[in-house]
Amino acid sequence: MWTKWVPAMHVVICGGGVVGAAAAFELTRRRVAVTVVERWRVAGAASGKSAGFLARDWCDGTPVAALAQRSFDLHEIWAEQLGNAYGYRKVDTFSAAVSIRRSLNSAKNSHLAPWLTPDAGHRSQLATTATTAQLDPEGFTRALMKAALTQGGKLEIATVAQLHRTDGGKRVAGVVLDNGRKILADAVILAMGPWSPVAAQWVPLPPIYGLKGHSIIFKPEAPLPPEAVFAEFEDTDGTVLTPEIVPRADGSLYVCGLSGTAALPIDSAQVRPEEGGCEKLREISVRLVPQLARAKVIAEQACYRPIARDGLPVIGAVPELEGTYVATGHSVWGMLNAPGTAEALAALITTGTASLDLAPFSPSRIAARS
Ligand SMILES: Cc1cc2nc3c(=O)[nH]c(=O)nc-3n(C[C@H](O)[C@H](O)[C@H](O)COP(=O)(O)OP(=O)(O)OC[C@H]3O[C@@H](n4cnc5c(N)ncnc54)[C@H](O)[C@@H]3O)c2cc1C
Repeated sequence: MWTKWVPAMHVVICGGGVVGAAAAFELTRRRVAVTVVERWRVAGAASGKSAGFLARDWCDGTPVAALAQRSFDLHEIWAEQLGNAYGYRKVDTFSAAVSIRRSLNSAKNSHLAPWLTPDAGHRSQLATTATTAQLDPEGFTRALMKAALTQGGKLEIATVAQLHRTDGGKRVAGVVLDNGRKILADAVILAMGPWSPVAAQWVPLPPIYGLKGHSIIFKPEAPLPPEAVFAEFEDTDGTVLTPEIVPRADGSLYVCGLSGTAALPIDSAQVRPEEGGCEKLREISVRLVPQLARAKVIAEQACYRPIARDGLPVIGAVPELEGTYVATGHSVWGMLNAPGTAEALAALITTGTASLDLAPFSPSRIAARS
């Protein structure tokens, strides 16, 4: 006899960045009812504006190693399962240096990433297609959300203003939106990226800050090969910048590498490049890849990566409020580590045991801000 499927639990996810979208994908796959509440736009913040570069072993020797390895492997599996409409592909990865002040030995290894300026020196191969890959971060985040919605999840464009509590305030019972409406839930995931300090006003959480970065997307006249470059650029005054150049599968080319100092606006829709930030980055990009002088600029943008004091992600149950979970602080590896984070959290929420050792990322490892 056919019986209607009734989900065993409902989870509200605060934040529609890559971490929230990946958690929604993993939970709905486990037949959990999910509502993602996103303040502005799915992938509107760093998750739509990052480089989308992935490395399997660049976190080796750190507490993030197992999470990164599992996540890198999941990316390949997910690209197949999701139909890869987001340009996931393996890449070779190189380093190179350009100086405006002095000449570098550019003859050696000039065959590596030959699309760089001929005077780019110190070229070497950092990694091969065995351990590095890339994707379009906005496309990836949106594909995860689309799959979650197809699997029965819901998306609300609204702002979470508070947690709703029960059991004398000891257990979470959902969220309260800024218009006063409540969404009831058995569990809540706080996946608010650099806006986690807002959630720290609701429950004690380790301090998280946002580091701003500018980026530009170009459309070169002809697509560049699947090769990412981590460059060192020495400016006229001796300042050394470290731009990342990532050609994408759709023929565009992404460059980031110039920080900003403006404070994080409370509204994610208000994040803007700073005056001169993208102009300077464009100048550097053209110096590194001369053909970009003729390329169309598709986007000039800025975003904030979420960082904890010890640089490690914050993932797990929030001890002070039963049923509340957090996933943030992924710093420069949020695109990479979203899959492993989501898989571990979904297992933790549905079975009580995470699929990875989350102890290094415990929300109680750093003094909480309450
Ligand atoms: C320039 C740059 C390049 C990067 N390159 C890479 C890279 O190559 N590889 C890599 O792995 N990582 C990279 N990263 C890091 C990566 O982008 C981040 O770690 C990741 O996007 C963080 O995802 P998130 O979901 O935690 O946060 P976000 O993407 O910031 O999402 C948080 C969401 O929460 C929403 N929100 C906030 N407050 C509320 C509220 N009260 N109610 C509802 N919603 C709310 C916001 O609107 C936002 O959409 C880069 C970052 C930057 C800045």
